[in-house]
Amino acid sequence: MKAPRFAYTRVLEVGDALAVLAAGGGAAKAMSGSQSLGPMLNLRLARPAHVVDVAGISGLRTVRRKEGWVEIGAAITHAEIEDGVYEPLIAHPMREVARGIAYRAIRTRGTVGGSLAHADPAADWVVTLAALGARIVAKSPRGERTIEADALMLGAYTTVLESDELIVSVVVPSETPTSYWGYHKVCRKPGEFAEASAAVYFDSTHSRARIVLGAADGPPILLEELAADIAARGTGAAGREQLRAAVRTALPERDALDLKLFTACVARALDQCGIFADLKKAE
Ligand SMILES: Cc1cc2nc3c(=O)[nH]c(=O)nc-3n(C[C@H](O)[C@H](O)[C@H](O)COP(=O)(O)OP(=O)(O)OC[C@H]3O[C@@H](n4cnc5c(N)ncnc54)[C@H](O)[C@@H]3O)c2cc1C
Repeated sequence: MKAPRFAYTRVLEVGDALAVLAAGGGAAKAMSGSQSLGPMLNLRLARPAHVVDVAGISGLRTVRRKEGWVEIGAAITHAEIEDGVYEPLIAHPMREVARGIAYRAIRTRGTVGGSLAHADPAADWVVTLAALGARIVAKSPRGERTIEADALMLGAYTTVLESDELIVSVVVPSETPTSYWGYHKVCRKPGEFAEASAAVYFDSTHSRARIVLGAADGPPILLEELAADIAARGTGAAGREQLRAAVRTALPERDALDLKLFTACVARALDQCGIFADLKKAE
């Protein structure tokens, strides 16, 4: 199938993109890498009257440090992160996440902002940025606002973004010598969307931990109790049974196989943080 007819405007400034979105009154859509919107148009699952191409806006293509945080422009591509173009600003583990997204051709066009706005429950940035405690900066004619990454999604392919809002950047905490994070996804072939995933962030100095399940059909799910135990008591806090129980409580509808997959994802993500070595030995 071919896309339905739509007007197309390529803009070079955020203000111009916002003007098109506002004028569209809900019938205009931003296009970044077009790796999700393109297929949606061709399948006629999306029928915007006007598409505004934001990939060339230089303001969406910068990466800069900001007192303990790094701000990544929404139009930075998965491939740029994978290639370490912005290292050391963008921490090395994000390269690993980017490398596991789809195939190289998709990564050269697909962007962080587009991925977040598309809000596929199985998308890699959706879960990893929620675990990192990242913040999403969005602009609209009403001004700028910041959205916690774990509060962006309302459901599958649905976000809190208004139709005239544009993600301009995502702000992630800078790596510190005592911050660790891990991510594991289960997928049938390398580069596919996850069937189950989990991401973990652990900061031993500030006793902070976040554990997030992804690919659970909706927004990322935070395992708050388990994270609080790990934050307070460190390595020894999470035993295998505790992990299983946390996943079971978070996903009450899932069958035994699914629970096993999600539990394994959490265990492996924790293991990458270096705080769950015992589990690996036991496996
Ligand atoms: C075969 C295939 C396999 C894939 N596998 C994976 C995978 O394993 N993991 C994974 O995470 N992803 C995967 N993807 C998705 C890929 O990562 C896309 O790059 C991503 O979902 C969308 O990014 P984009 O820049 O192409 O956005 P676009 O396709 O341009 O836009 C997607 C949506 O976001 C909106 N949008 C775009 N930019 C903005 C913005 N700045 N502000 C507000 N709204 C915006 C658009 O209006 C649209 O609704 C896959 C895609 C394909 C086609």
